[in-house]
Amino acid sequence: MSPIQIQFFLYLNSHTKRQRRISHLAEEFGLTQATVSDAVKALMKKGLLLKMRSQEDGRIATLELTPSGRRLVVRLLGWQSALQEQIKKFPPETKEVVMIFLMEVIAQLQKAGIISIVRMCITCGFFRRDAYPGAERPHHCELTDRPIANSELRIDCHRHKPKLNEVE
Ligand code: SF4
Repeated sequence: MSPIQIQFFLYLNSHTKRQRRISHLAEEFGLTQATVSDAVKALMKKGLLLKMRSQEDGRIATLELTPSGRRLVVRLLGWQSALQEQIKKFPPETKEVVMIFLMEVIAQLQKAGIISIVRMCITCGFFRRDAYPGAERPHHCELTDRPIANSELRIDCHRHKPKLNEVE
C-alpha cells in the first residue's frame, strides 16, 4: 500500500460517518476529489473498502472498511503500537519539547499554504497561549473555559475553530 492509502485507512478507522465522505477526505488530505476517487476505487477493487450511498440523498456516499479492511487496520495499528512502545522510553519533558516543535512546524506549513486542514490548539481561535504564565497549565481554551497544559494540547480537536492566517 502507498503511504497515502495507509493514511486513508487510519483516518477512516477513527472518524465519524460524516467525515468519511470522499469530499471530506479530499479536504483533509489536501487532494482533489478525483485523486481520492482513484485511490478509493483501487482499494475497493482489493476488497478493502465499500462505498455506502446515503438513503436520504443518493449523491452522498460514505466510505466503510470491509472486514478485510478492518483486519488490515489492526495490522497497521500494531505497527503504530511498536512505535509508541519505543517513544514511551523517552522522558516526558523530551516528548513535550518535540511535540510542541512538531506542532509549530505543522502550523507554519499551514500558514504557508502547504497543508490545509489542521485542528490543533495552537491554530485554534479559542486558544489563548500562556494565559497563565508559569502555571502548570499555562494555556486556556475559551470554548471549554479550562486551562490547558502543554501535554494536553490537542492535535485533532473536533471543536477547533480555524484562525485564518494566524498562529498563536
Ligand atoms: S476548542 Fe479544541 S482546539 Fe480549540 S483551544 Fe479548545 S481544545 Fe484546543
